[in-house]
Amino acid sequence: MKFSDPITLLKNIGSKRVEVFNNHGIYTLYDLLYYFPRRHLDRTSVKKIKDLIKGESCTIIATVQTFGVKPIRKGKMYQVMVNDKSGILTLNWFNSIRIIKNLFKVGDKLAIHGKIDWFHGFSITHPEFDKLEKNDDPISTGEVIPLYPLTNEFKSVGIDQRIFRKIIKEALSYKLNIPEIYSSEVLKNNALFSLSEALQNIHYSSSNKKLNKAIKRLKFDEHFFLQLFMAIRKKSIKSLGTKSLNDIGPYFRTISESLNFELTGAQKKVIQEIHTDIKNNVPMNRLLQGDVGSGKTIVSILVSALALGNNTQVAIMAPTEILARQHFSSFKTEFDKVKISCALLVGNMKKKERFSILNGLVLGKVGVLVGTHALIQEDVIFKSLNLVIIDEQHRFGVNQRAQLLNKGENPHFLAMTATPIPRTLSITYNGDMELSIIDELPKNRIPVITKVVKPQRLIKVFNFIKDQIKQNHQCMVIYPLVEESEKSDLAAAVQAYENFKTKIFKKVSIGLIHGKMKTEEKDLIMNSFSKNEINLLISTTVIEVGVDIPNATVMLIEHAERFGLTQLHQLRGRVGRGAEKSYCILVKRKATSNSNKRLDIMEETNDGFLISDEDLKLRGPGEFFGIKQSGFFKFKIADLVRDGPIIRTARKAAFDIVEKDKNLKRKSNKLIRNKFLNEYSQYLDAISFS
Ligand code: ADP
Ligand code: MG
Repeated sequence: MKFSDPITLLKNIGSKRVEVFNNHGIYTLYDLLYYFPRRHLDRTSVKKIKDLIKGESCTIIATVQTFGVKPIRKGKMYQVMVNDKSGILTLNWFNSIRIIKNLFKVGDKLAIHGKIDWFHGFSITHPEFDKLEKNDDPISTGEVIPLYPLTNEFKSVGIDQRIFRKIIKEALSYKLNIPEIYSSEVLKNNALFSLSEALQNIHYSSSNKKLNKAIKRLKFDEHFFLQLFMAIRKKSIKSLGTKSLNDIGPYFRTISESLNFELTGAQKKVIQEIHTDIKNNVPMNRLLQGDVGSGKTIVSILVSALALGNNTQVAIMAPTEILARQHFSSFKTEFDKVKISCALLVGNMKKKERFSILNGLVLGKVGVLVGTHALIQEDVIFKSLNLVIIDEQHRFGVNQRAQLLNKGENPHFLAMTATPIPRTLSITYNGDMELSIIDELPKNRIPVITKVVKPQRLIKVFNFIKDQIKQNHQCMVIYPLVEESEKSDLAAAVQAYENFKTKIFKKVSIGLIHGKMKTEEKDLIMNSFSKNEINLLISTTVIEVGVDIPNATVMLIEHAERFGLTQLHQLRGRVGRGAEKSYCILVKRKATSNSNKRLDIMEETNDGFLISDEDLKLRGPGEFFGIKQSGFFKFKIADLVRDGPIIRTARKAAFDIVEKDKNLKRKSNKLIRNKFLNEYSQYLDAISFS
């Protein structure tokens, strides 16, 4: 048998079962071996019931003794008692009882995994569990037992853990001769198992040590191919030529001298770094990272001013219309001083207006174009685009970035983000970029005071808000809106608005803004808010990114438990942007242990780096980056949070290979090339790879 043979050649796979495997992307023996166990049981990972400790997560092997439905105050629960001769453990379910009920028989042997509770004895609520065979016993045999992620679909064709293991064992019994993709040098330098050894040991290994080595090799592979992508992108950018933006020109000086504040040291430093890059005739590819309120906008304006001294155009793209409009207004204020024309391009513009902008752009009359992803539409054509800036770039896809860059001739590229990306993630996701960090806030800033409150305290909070408004400060109240279409959420914001207007804040000028409003309406509201004609703004999360109203001092967030940490930090960043003392009030309406943790962190720190680290740990990278990027990380086994050392070695290996052989054309890189083309086919437009 060969690794590329179909799984139908295996004994336990007939026509019905093969369909289920195919549905899981498994066609060949090779695919099958890539269906990794989700957990392994071994002597050291299993605990005796008598040795359990409350609060600990662990695995127990025990036998079902009794089970049954039990009435409780609100409905019923399902309980299973298990015994491992050292003690008794209770498993509790509060939902899906109808399904759970039919799963157990007295005498079933289970591997149970979960967090240990104590209430009249040890218990676990909603544990993960797998049924074992009578003689599955890692403790006395010393074997490592794999547990597979089996969906109900597998179970419906009679494939349980035992059968699945049999199938894997059969596949492993043939000498499949899986070709190695790395040179022996890479294997040796990184102390890696061969692929063949890894695919054997990830399923069945005689020791924990070997299992870990298998896991390491397979994680390494996933990181390696992502880093390969980064290396190729970086190298292909480096090999391009571009216009050097060497002249300083008159605009930079006029604008920087007109500012009514002094730039921070960090702002000066990053402007210097960027300037050094754009003077080159190799395109800049740089990420500007700075916490909320650190003053990235003025940096992007001054850098644009430098670029514009070279007879060129600049494009700035932002993820939301509110933010694009705000950037437009900031850019326009500054560039009016030097008579450079700025234009705004967003979706849903009047035809005539849009046409006139596009026309000005082609002719080079428009110097700075600010907008949303409307910028990447096909008919947007620049005369000479040499600097592209993308704000909150992680909200855009890899291909969207490429499309905008394609509108110039290898333009210099600056990405900006207020989400400080933890170090390991940064070399993963932004692995091809140089990094500039604004690690200092403007001197006049006072840290925002954050308080978590229960709804009962709101009356006091409202009085406090009235007081702030009396002092001519502005306040915002945010309601969560997970999906723009979630009507009930929207209703909550509208209702609060009515309630505030007619009852609580009668004497205050109140505005409402949400995603369902027409653009003109939103503009009107945002404009009045920034002119301080509106004192209290009720909003859904459309306000989230970037909005800059230095006079705002209170940010009240309703249902704070429903927001992610980074989002809360972003929202909080809407206040405390001026010299006034500011407050962030988080209203907690419901508590889970996870949401309590988030709110605690918010109360404890204003440090965006710390917060994003915690957020990443709590949510994992997929959600952390939002939907746009998650498809990019199709990791099976790699873990961006924990694999720091592996990422660094995989990165080095990938960059070394690309350094010598950019298009992976050498014979020794053939298998790497094939796998790369296979896994990253949909992103190849974003790099030049042939
Ligand atoms: P962010 O980095 O979150 O995008 P902004 O660029 O919107 O922050 O800046 C926040 C506020 O700080 C703006 O009102 C801006 O004018 C102001 N600001 C920027 N740099 C300085 C500085 N060096 N000193 C004082 N205020 C500054
Ligand atoms: Mg900003």
